[in-house]
Amino acid sequence: MVGENMDSIFTMGIDVGSTASKCIVLKNGCEIVGQSLANAGAGTSGPRRAITAALESLSLTKEDLYYTVATGYGRHSIDWIDKEITELSAHAKGAYFFFPDVRTVIDIGGQDAKVLCVGDQGMLRNFVMNDKCAAGTGRFLEVMARILEVDLKDFPELAEQSTTTIGISSTCTVFAESEVISQLAKGTHKNDIIKGIHQSVASRVSGLAKRLGIINRVVMTGGVALNSGVRRALEDELNCEIYTSDLAQYSGALGAAIIGYDKVCQ
Ligand code: ADP
Repeated sequence: MVGENMDSIFTMGIDVGSTASKCIVLKNGCEIVGQSLANAGAGTSGPRRAITAALESLSLTKEDLYYTVATGYGRHSIDWIDKEITELSAHAKGAYFFFPDVRTVIDIGGQDAKVLCVGDQGMLRNFVMNDKCAAGTGRFLEVMARILEVDLKDFPELAEQSTTTIGISSTCTVFAESEVISQLAKGTHKNDIIKGIHQSVASRVSGLAKRLGIINRVVMTGGVALNSGVRRALEDELNCEIYTSDLAQYSGALGAAIIGYDKVCQ
């Protein structure tokens, strides 16, 4: 049992997002020993389920944790944690864990998109964000997947099979929805529509990124980083290579767990 090793310092990071709750347990500030994701975010049972699953997988209890940090949109909803931090600092630290030379983070989550300028040690220096409009977010992709009756997980593979470029020009999710429906009615292949949707997200987010300025290395975090079609479209728009890790969606939770460890060691 992990908890029997008294030399181990366990810290937990919980990211209560708009769409999903993510949890990371870190051992001694450097080893990810537990992770859990519940596909339900703020205001649901998602945070509790994610925390319970992560602890149970390690046979740990809350009392075994030295420090717990919550982040994300719904971070205020957990009352027993030690500290709350913004998802901006959390994502910067989470990206730094896998890519110590990161200078720009592009985080696209369920309801917003953020671009962060990161300094030494993964410290946040500056940021821009879009949280006013669903276009260019995970929600936009979810709405489009529903209309197309395609699993979002299949988007990258289908987009790769696209043979024609079609533009989704509407900058509003509601209008883009009508645009996609009319493309379907015209008989446009779903693969081409999906590629157009990826380009539309990339175009929105790259506009944001250019406002801040892009410095290499660029790392993508948040759930949309799992969509390699959006990532490639962003690489084309920004003319740079974009790195990501398998744990991209956990970046906020990971950064929170790291910041928790830093607090223990202060
Ligand atoms: P939040 O923190 O706001 O809850 P996340 O960073 O967890 O958001 O990202 C949620 C988004 O990630 C979803 O809206 C969806 O677009 C995207 N996503 C999640 N899993 C996948 C997947 N397997 N493939 C493609 N996209 C995904």
